[in-house]
Amino acid sequence: MDAHARNLVLFDIDGTLLRTEGAGVAAMLRAFSRLHGERGFSFEGVEIAGALDGLLFARMMAQHGLPGDEGTHAEFQRIYADELARALTPSVVRRMPGTTELVGALRDAGAGVGLLTGNYERTAHLKIALVGFDRTHFPFGAFGADGPSRRHLTPVAIERAAAHLGRSFDPARVTIIGDTPHDIDCAKAHGCRALGVGTGPYSPERLLAAGADLAVADLADLAAIRGWILR
Ligand SMILES: [Mg+2]
Repeated sequence: MDAHARNLVLFDIDGTLLRTEGAGVAAMLRAFSRLHGERGFSFEGVEIAGALDGLLFARMMAQHGLPGDEGTHAEFQRIYADELARALTPSVVRRMPGTTELVGALRDAGAGVGLLTGNYERTAHLKIALVGFDRTHFPFGAFGADGPSRRHLTPVAIERAAAHLGRSFDPARVTIIGDTPHDIDCAKAHGCRALGVGTGPYSPERLLAAGADLAVADLADLAAIRGWILR
């Protein structure tokens, strides 16, 4: 077994691997209108960063007195993926510094690498494909319809990693990388390590205050970050 095979690293997507600069949120709002007609859907007053897509859907349906059943949710996901595929072009999506190199270095070292994101699985892969990642980079993960809160996603991701890689992971050897206090919380709640990254709406100081074990401006310092994760 590779020297670092006992390490598992789970990446958030928005604000961590990439940014869609509002195009993702706009696509989701258009999907609500396509599904239910124009009703002035808006995320005003809703904290989007770090939220789960499945929860945003449920809240929006409840707010407008609309059905949020499984069938409607599935239809919404299909329409949202369609809107997102049209809205997101390589010129709209920005990859965050150092991400390709870090993912490559961790995989080369033999660590498990996966996703822990509020995105639906389908739209998660749609987004990361635009910055050059595919399922070989992130062969497993936990997604925005896998639980009622981000905290619920952590054990899901760890179990899927174990199933995919055929080995179990001690939470102390699991690192979750994300850009919001929700990412930090879902790591610390399960005894995992939290690496905060300041490429989203929160500064490294805010992420440290939220309990991050380490917080950096971005992931560009490959040697330092790789060393910290695999220490
Ligand atoms: Mg994020």
